[in-house]
Amino acid sequence: MKTSWLTHLDARVPRYTSYPTAPHFHTGIDGPTVDTWLGEADLAKPVSLYVHVPFCAKLCWYCGCNTEIIKTDAPVANYLELLLREINRTADFLPGRAKVSHLHFGGGSPNTLPVEAFHRLMDAIEARFDFLPHAERAIELDPRGLDLDRVKAYATRGIDRASIGVQDLDPDVQKAIHRIQPLATVTRAVERLRANGIEAINFDLLYGLPLQSVATIEKTIAEVLALDPARIALFGYAHVPWMKKYQKALERYTLPGQSERAVLASAARQALEAVYDPIGIDHFARPDDALTLAAKSGALRRNFQGYTTDLAETLISFGPSAISETAQGYAQNEPDLRRWSALVEGGQSNVYRGIALSHDDRLRRAVIERLMCDLNVDLEAMAARYQADPAVFLPALDRLEAYAADGMVEIDGWRVSVPDEARIAVRSVASVFDRWLTSDGARHAAAV
Ligand code: SF4
Repeated sequence: MKTSWLTHLDARVPRYTSYPTAPHFHTGIDGPTVDTWLGEADLAKPVSLYVHVPFCAKLCWYCGCNTEIIKTDAPVANYLELLLREINRTADFLPGRAKVSHLHFGGGSPNTLPVEAFHRLMDAIEARFDFLPHAERAIELDPRGLDLDRVKAYATRGIDRASIGVQDLDPDVQKAIHRIQPLATVTRAVERLRANGIEAINFDLLYGLPLQSVATIEKTIAEVLALDPARIALFGYAHVPWMKKYQKALERYTLPGQSERAVLASAARQALEAVYDPIGIDHFARPDDALTLAAKSGALRRNFQGYTTDLAETLISFGPSAISETAQGYAQNEPDLRRWSALVEGGQSNVYRGIALSHDDRLRRAVIERLMCDLNVDLEAMAARYQADPAVFLPALDRLEAYAADGMVEIDGWRVSVPDEARIAVRSVASVFDRWLTSDGARHAAAV
C-alpha cells in the first residue's frame, strides 16, 4: 500500500453493511410503521432470519457487540421465553408463512443457550416459518463454551455453517485482550463440528490489537490455515471507548497507530491471499467456496452479517439491537436488554428506530453494495436501472479525482473501479457516494 493512500484512509467511514447506515436511523420509524411493513412483505420471495443472543461467559476487552456477561443460565432462560414471544408476534404480522433461505444465530455467543433452550428456539422458528430445501443455517460460536452436546444439537437441527471467533492465537495478545483461547481449544471445536457433519467453518481474525506484530499475525494465520476453514474474515479492531467503555482497558498498552495497522493488515492479507481468494474488503474464501463463486459471478451480497450469498431482500431479526430490512426500509430493535424485555413482555413492538428508504437511497445503496462486493460499478447502468439521471453522481466523480490521481481508483467514463491492490480503500471510495455521511467520522471506525 502506498503511504500517500493513508491520507484518504484517515477518514472514519462506515463498513456499509447497510445504506443508509445505522447512525442515521431515527425514532420516527416506530412499531406500527414496521408492523405495516411486515404486513406488506412479498412472501413469494424468500426471507432471511437473524436471531441475536446477547450473552457471553466472559468479556473480551476489544468487544464491540451488544452483549452481557452471565454467570448462570437464569438470564438465558428468561430471555428465551421472551424471544419465543417476539418470534410469534412478528410472524403474526406477516401475510402468511415465509420461506426462509438463511437463518443466522449471532451474538454475543449463541452457544450460551443451553441445549434444551436451543431446541425450543428451533421448534418455535420451524413452527412459524418454512425452510427452503437448501436453506443455510449458520451460527456464531465461542469455542471456549462449545461442548459436544451443543455440537450434536446444532447438527440435529440442520446447522451447516459455524463461525468461530479466533481473533489472535498469540498467548500475550490473548492475555492483553482478555480472551484466553489456545489453539488447542479452537482445534477441538473444529474437530467436534466436522465429526458431526458441520463442515462449513468460518474463522474471524482481528488486527490492530495490543502486542500484535507482523510475526505474531503471520504465526496465527499459519496456525488457522492448518485447520483449513472454508472462509476467514479479517477485521480491524475498532477502538471506540466512547461507546464501549471497557475498551479503555486496552489503553494500558500502546495500540497500533494507523500506519502500523496498515502494515499488520497488509501482512495478514498477503498470508491469506497465498491460499484463499480475497472477497470484498475483509473476507477470504477457498477458491471452490460458494462465496468465491458468487464474487466471480457478480452475485455477492452484503448485509448485516457481512458478505453473503443470500439473495433474500427481506431480513427479519429478533432480539435486542437486531436490525431488520424490508422493502420499505430498515428497523432496529430496542438495544437495551431490560427495555427490550419489558416491551416484549407487554406484547408491544420493540422497534427502537429505523429509516424509510427514498428512491435516492435505493440507488446509492445499489452503487455502494456493488463497490463493496465487486470493487467496481457502472454508474450509468445503475442509474438506468433505477430510472435516474447519472448526473447525480457527478459531484462524487469530482471528489474521486483525488483518489484517481493516487492510483486508488480508476475512472473510465461512468465506470468506477478500485484496483485489486487498493482493495483496502473500497470503504473510503464507497463513502464518496454516501449522501448521509457527515464529517462526524468519530461515529465510525477507522478505514484501516
Ligand atoms: S465472545 Fe464475542 S460477543 Fe462475547 S465478549 Fe467476546 S467479542 Fe464480545
